Amino acid sequence: MDELFGLSRFLLTLLIFVPIERLFAARPQKIFRRGLLTDMAFQFVNGWMIMIGVIAVVAMAIVINRSVLPLAVKQAIDGLPYLVQAVLVILIGDLGVYWTHRILHVVPAMWQIHAVHHAVEELDWLAAVHQHPLDVIFMKAGSLFPLFALGFSTEAIGTYILVYSWQAYLVHANVRLNYGLLRYVLVSPEFHHWHHSSEKEARDKNFAGMISFYDWLFGSVYLPKGQKPKTFGVDNPMPSNYLALLVYPFIAWASNKKTTPNRARDERPTRCAD
Ligand SMILES: [Zn+2]
Ligand SMILES: [Zn+2]
Repeated sequence: MDELFGLSRFLLTLLIFVPIERLFAARPQKIFRRGLLTDMAFQFVNGWMIMIGVIAVVAMAIVINRSVLPLAVKQAIDGLPYLVQAVLVILIGDLGVYWTHRILHVVPAMWQIHAVHHAVEELDWLAAVHQHPLDVIFMKAGSLFPLFALGFSTEAIGTYILVYSWQAYLVHANVRLNYGLLRYVLVSPEFHHWHHSSEKEARDKNFAGMISFYDWLFGSVYLPKGQKPKTFGVDNPMPSNYLALLVYPFIAWASNKKTTPNRARDERPTRCAD
């Protein structure tokens, strides 16, 4: 029960990230910031919906693994040591995250789901959970489906899930961290903060979850030297309470809008970069 609601993980992340954000803050920001209660609702209510979606995704992937995957591929993956599997799992999983995330940005109906995550205006570690359950399920489908379908070991996939969940808190945390030369390989907090920036040049950039190299490879990186993002969020008004955010994509689809939030943002004049 505790796992489903994530109470122990929440307390652990709180004990780790609140002091780190106090010591290495990228921007002055209160602990009890705007939207904190909404994020708590995402933290404690989203779990069971995500669990149902992820179980369905994994079940379908296992069916594919057992019925379609050639035996030679299964045996080759089975024969790999844990460490090699873990590295491959991170590379394949994050490639899935990259393309799923990019699709969530460019397909208008998908963007209405993902806009919920981008509605956060005061970014900190807890913003990691501010995601529509369908958004999380799509992301998990993009990353976990190929991993289970290919038949990687549960230890290797489990390692990836654990590392990714901590990485999600870290990249949203309000900390000054840019990783220096490692920025070409790994996603830092600075890298993902730019992804949330409402500045026009930064929109639809930096899609990777862990491996920033994919953004360099696919030409979607935005990491201007010596600058940091100043404002976050989307330009169109978004609801601020949990239930309204849950129904937001459905209302947006039903209203059959001609313009999507991110396209509407693009029509606005570019702000000065000072
Ligand atoms: Zn995004
Ligand atoms: Zn984010």
